[in-house]
Amino acid sequence: MALEKHQFDAVIVGGGGAGLRSALQLAEAGVKVAVLSKVFPTRSHTVAAQGGIAAALGNVSDDKWLWHMYDTIKGSDFLGDQDAIEFMCKNAAKAIVELEYFGMPFDRLDNGKIFQRPFGGMTKNFGESAISRTCAVADRTGHAMLHTLYQRNVRANTEFFIEWYALDLIRDAEGDVLGVIALDIETGEVRIFEAKATLLATGGAGRIFQASTNAFTCTGDGLGMAARAGIPLQDMEFWQFHPTGVLHAGVLITEGVRGEGGYLVNSQGERFMERYAPTAKDLASRDVVSRASATEIKEGRGVGAGKNAVYLKLDHLGEDVIEQRLPGIRQIAKSFANVDPVKDPIPVVPTAHYMMGGIPTNLNGQVIVPDGESQKEINGLYAVGECACISVHGANRLGSNSLLDLVVFGKSTGDHIAKTVKLNKAHKPLPQDAEDKTMSRLARYERPQGENLMQVRLDLRQVMQEYCGVFRFPDLLAKGVDEINAVAERVANVVIKDNSKVFNTARIEALELDNLTEVALATMHAAHNRKESRGAHAREDYEERDDVNWLTHSLYYRENHQLKYKPVQLTPLTVPSFVPKARVY
Ligand SMILES: Cc1cc2nc3c(=O)[nH]c(=O)nc-3n(C[C@H](O)[C@H](O)[C@H](O)COP(=O)(O)OP(=O)(O)OC[C@H]3O[C@@H](n4cnc5c(N)ncnc54)[C@H](O)[C@@H]3O)c2cc1C
Repeated sequence: MALEKHQFDAVIVGGGGAGLRSALQLAEAGVKVAVLSKVFPTRSHTVAAQGGIAAALGNVSDDKWLWHMYDTIKGSDFLGDQDAIEFMCKNAAKAIVELEYFGMPFDRLDNGKIFQRPFGGMTKNFGESAISRTCAVADRTGHAMLHTLYQRNVRANTEFFIEWYALDLIRDAEGDVLGVIALDIETGEVRIFEAKATLLATGGAGRIFQASTNAFTCTGDGLGMAARAGIPLQDMEFWQFHPTGVLHAGVLITEGVRGEGGYLVNSQGERFMERYAPTAKDLASRDVVSRASATEIKEGRGVGAGKNAVYLKLDHLGEDVIEQRLPGIRQIAKSFANVDPVKDPIPVVPTAHYMMGGIPTNLNGQVIVPDGESQKEINGLYAVGECACISVHGANRLGSNSLLDLVVFGKSTGDHIAKTVKLNKAHKPLPQDAEDKTMSRLARYERPQGENLMQVRLDLRQVMQEYCGVFRFPDLLAKGVDEINAVAERVANVVIKDNSKVFNTARIEALELDNLTEVALATMHAAHNRKESRGAHAREDYEERDDVNWLTHSLYYRENHQLKYKPVQLTPLTVPSFVPKARVY
């Protein structure tokens, strides 16, 4: 079939914070760049980020990027790559100043400098006490950042393909990536986007779980595309559960609430974090706080009718602070929990929030795969943002480090692509069969009968929720592997032609389910195989971290659900290593 073709120097799939930061770098360097986004760019999940973006500016008290680096490595439970973490923390202040020059309206301190608030795991002097490091725009930081970046891109003449859905990568016989195949959601037309560089910036995949803070669009499309193209997915067993999702709704209450002085209590009114993390208390790392809440609930000290939540108390902050710093939170609590936090506590539960794993990349955003004992780059393919695994978050991300990851590596990736596309004068010829597999995947849904899309998707989410949650048990993981494999087989038989009328949105949901399935399979298989507890991966049968056998990144291959492992980069760029040690808060 001859599909219509577009030709660009660079094609970016994703118009969230990461995609837009790279696009801006490229457009301003004069590169012919297109951004494809399945939703209007300013509706990307980045818009929902509340609490802020970390950088050791030292505006509230003395701070150093080295302290930020230490906190991030410790937060990652030593699984983060120390070269990438150094790069991110060192470049953080510059990235904030850049955003400010782009027009991002940061909150201010009385002296006019950018406001900073405390956040979980962020400390001064290598763990001594909490520090105010997180820059914020009230509790709508992502909103401000995304709109700022979008406007700058409009100014720089970035070309947008809005409500275009990327289906698959195009890879030739040599393994080089030459672009993507995408579908216009409005008309259903499929086209080829040929590019010298293809950048995946498709965000997270939190929708593999039933209870999730993530937008409906977070379906791991970039990971599905990579997995289908034979690229492994890294560290997929590590999922962050945020301690404060609104009970039954999943909507997030930012950690900034605890940064401003809010805290968790159980049914006995006890501030239980004092027992689990005597120093950092409610501002311990997210995995630590989520496990504490889950334990309180499990041991019968939960609140509410079902005793299945804990309370987040902030009435003592006073209406003025809540209105000035946390206005969105007050609204969310009223709409989704029917409480006004100025008077009453909010019922919250640990809720799936962030994917630490992703498509393996280096500091330039180039996708890297094992090649014998070393690694090689895949020509023409890049990834950035939540869909990528550089890895700066390791086994557990610190809050406010993701927005930072987007802009720091969004920029470095943009710079690298700009350099490379200028060196490559011509596009490589496309393979004859570029679109064949994709077209037959699309045709698959046209069959007359099969599994019901909604039911299979529900089952997938239930399996992940039940068998691969905050705490992981050996029998449940083993059963989870069988269950998710069975769901995946049913996904292959999904139809969307149950009714006489088929809308493209139903087709998109089916295509998204393909990608959710790749992510869910990778997560369950990798979790089953990692026989230790580290960061967000907490096993009941292996309670301790095991640096002798498991100080390694996992790589999941779609073919036969194969798992390989590669060492963690323990050597930073310029400073001495931080040697793994016990992690206490
Ligand atoms: C509720 C919430 C609050 C958060 N708060 C914070 C915070 O305060 N601080 C912090 O550091 N982090 C926070 N995070 C995490 C952080 O916001 C995300 O990790 C980050 O915004 C992800 O950015 P991204 O650019 O990678 O992806 P996204 O912003 O999710 O963008 C993905 C883009 O990819 C596009 N896309 C996806 N698939 C396709 C496809 N197949 N075809 C075409 N386009 C596609 C989408 O349209 C979208 O434009 C929060 C996350 C959530 C869910």
